[in-house]
Amino acid sequence: MAVATDTRPWTPDQPIIQLIDVHKSFGTFEVLKGVSFDVKKGEVVCIIGPSGSGKSTLIRCINALVPLTSGTIRVENIEVSDPQLDKLALRRKVGMVFQQYNLFPHKTALQNVMMAPIHVLHQDKREVEERARALLKKVRLVGKEHSYPGELSGGQQQRVAIARSLAMLPDVMLFDEVTAALDPETVKEVLLAIRELAEDGMTCLLVTHEMNFARDIADHIYFTDRGVIVEHGPPDTFFSAPSDPRTREFLSQVL
Ligand code: ADP
Ligand code: MG
Repeated sequence: MAVATDTRPWTPDQPIIQLIDVHKSFGTFEVLKGVSFDVKKGEVVCIIGPSGSGKSTLIRCINALVPLTSGTIRVENIEVSDPQLDKLALRRKVGMVFQQYNLFPHKTALQNVMMAPIHVLHQDKREVEERARALLKKVRLVGKEHSYPGELSGGQQQRVAIARSLAMLPDVMLFDEVTAALDPETVKEVLLAIRELAEDGMTCLLVTHEMNFARDIADHIYFTDRGVIVEHGPPDTFFSAPSDPRTREFLSQVL
């Protein structure tokens, strides 16, 4: 039975994201086999694990891009699995950045960042423009406001995509391997933008293959394999003394 969206106010001492026994199948193939964890406000949580282990599916379930098969996901007081889910309310709280930045090619960087607040939230154009310029500054793209995506490097486009997500003023940011498609020299600038965001106190849930970055930035690491969380812990313990053979094998391949 679906639990109705809780109308009580969410308070910051409660988890900002909560997953309880989340299962997801595509047909008969069970991709997530009972995943539970919490993310607290201001925390930076990294999910790592082999390709195909269900990391993207997990992230997409949190943003209701993929419906759950069973279990519960809450973001603040929004019950994501509620059939009456207000997707717009959820998307205002949860920003998401993907590997593919998918900017509108015929819009400038500034226009890309301004689009959703204006066309989805119908906010005042002048205010949105001011915010968009500030966000582009924050991701170090001053001077690129009027550039089109085709005139920007992959790393610059991905930073526009980050600014675009932030323009909705989300409470939580989800990142799914956002540097995986980038040239090595532009990876750093994107990781720096995420780091600064995290240092500003943004709650971040990241899927990443950048182990050094995860070690540096994360408050907590989850290692997934074949749809389950195999092991988790603070980065110090996780990287220096992984206890599960699957974690050890994975780390031996990527470190
Ligand atoms: P990861 O991000 O860890 O690489 P994914 O969540 O993308 O893993 O995928 C986990 C498994 O689910 C893979 O075997 C993938 O082929 C499968 N899968 C993902 N999305 C779909 C879908 N829409 N339909 C069917 N199978 C899917
Ligand atoms: Mg993935």
